[in-house]
Amino acid sequence: MTPGVRPLVAGNWKMNGLSASLGEIEAMRLAADAGEAGEAELLVCPPATLLAQAAWNIRGGKLSLGAQDCHPQPSGAFTGDISAAMLKDAGATYVIVGHSERRTLHHETDELVRAKAEAALKAGLVAIVCVGESHAERQAGEQAAVVIRQLRRSLPAGGNSETVVIAYEPVWAIGTGLTPTPGDVTVIHNFIRALLVEVGGPHAAKTRILYGGSVKPSNCGDLLTLDNVDGALVGGASLKAAEFLAIAAAYR
Ligand code: PEP
Repeated sequence: MTPGVRPLVAGNWKMNGLSASLGEIEAMRLAADAGEAGEAELLVCPPATLLAQAAWNIRGGKLSLGAQDCHPQPSGAFTGDISAAMLKDAGATYVIVGHSERRTLHHETDELVRAKAEAALKAGLVAIVCVGESHAERQAGEQAAVVIRQLRRSLPAGGNSETVVIAYEPVWAIGTGLTPTPGDVTVIHNFIRALLVEVGGPHAAKTRILYGGSVKPSNCGDLLTLDNVDGALVGGASLKAAEFLAIAAAYR
């Protein structure tokens, strides 16, 4: 944790969730409003199809709402894509960009991720910029170099600690049940913090840096209270409100 920084516990539902799942979001809203996330901000990022209804259901409450991706252009002939302005219009206040599944499955480059993050900022959304090394890169001991390179190239121009969040997600830890040791997480988060301050100045000491990759109620206590770990990006364990809230309880 970083002194004076409000942690963020963010749930990424990926391509999961039909309208029947709105009840889970409602349970998250009730818990957030009741202070069950302690000092942390609670954020859920359902599929785009649920955003408008979820936004309506949670209006006026303390649960934040985000999307999982956006197009770099504000509008145009991009069949099937969704712009940051559209996400904002649907009620999102955050958007994830550069998730490893998009970098891998959709061949997204750092340059594209930066363009998406800049589009998010332009639309008034907070961008959650994801970085993280592959298994092979970790085996080769290149994790710090990879993360720093991705970050230098993916950071949006003009961002600050209020408009940008970083998520360090080792690719080999996503959805596998594997996690780096607390010591390994600390090393990378310290590198990320140093880079943010180098690029953004002293104000970047307050930029939130999330850890993501197989965060569960059983390991969140060890991971989420480390220095320079200002919350979590949670995949599978965010689909059910009870499990997600048990993770956020690390900040109570
Ligand atoms: C993710 O998709 O961002 C993620 C961290 O997934 P999981 O928690 O399931 O590993």
